[in-house]
Amino acid sequence: MTVRRRLVAGNWKMNGDLALLAELDAVAAAAAAHPGVDVAMAVPATLIAPAVQRAPGLAIGAEDVHEADSGAYTGSVSAAMVREAGATFTIVGHSERREYQNETSQDAWAKAAAARRQGLSVILCCGETGAERDAGRAERVVQAQIEKSLPEQAHGDWLTLAYEPRWAIGSGRTPTLEEIAAIHAIARAKMRQLIGDAADGVRILYGGSVTGDNARAIMAVPDVDGALVGGASLTAAKFVPIIEAAG
Ligand code: PEP
Repeated sequence: MTVRRRLVAGNWKMNGDLALLAELDAVAAAAAAHPGVDVAMAVPATLIAPAVQRAPGLAIGAEDVHEADSGAYTGSVSAAMVREAGATFTIVGHSERREYQNETSQDAWAKAAAARRQGLSVILCCGETGAERDAGRAERVVQAQIEKSLPEQAHGDWLTLAYEPRWAIGSGRTPTLEEIAAIHAIARAKMRQLIGDAADGVRILYGGSVTGDNARAIMAVPDVDGALVGGASLTAAKFVPIIEAAG
């Protein structure tokens, strides 16, 4: 039986400055106190290098990378650039990229491949909109997203899937535990269809309004291997209880 280590990953989004890096001290201490839990933090590209310097024991990552290795893409940041800055992983396919930058699952696939070429680990996001859930299409949407974005050679050593229903992100609302269990089960089954037994080693995080209050119950759901956390990752006071809940 495959044992998957729990992963608690934060995502600062377009928030933070050098002063906020002080929050990482307590996060790194909590990570050290819970050696059975992997802890990671995705930060804005400008903060990657100082975050690595401030918290060398933490996995620091990027929130996105461009799908090309280099070139005439003004304003974009490549996987090689964030790796050189000290990132060890990147998020791809986040719902805010899909919503505001019109990114598709195909884009997420290409970005995951670019990250992999640079040896970065990848957190690949999927998740339905509120309208899709209301229309009873959540499972089909997530299956289709995985089908289009999962790298062919995906392996749990470097790939993590994150199920993040868009309507739950930053809203304070979460699916029921049964709804989370249902999507995680179909996500696992879809990955098995695509990459066979390797799917059993791929962690599936739940993301969307995770807090210290609901983290323990959510992470007890079968096939939930940790959490991707936005708002509550911005302060150690809110993030550390989630690490503790995973430990
Ligand atoms: C996210 O941005 O990935 C996220 C899950 O945000 P929040 O925890 O704030 O809902």
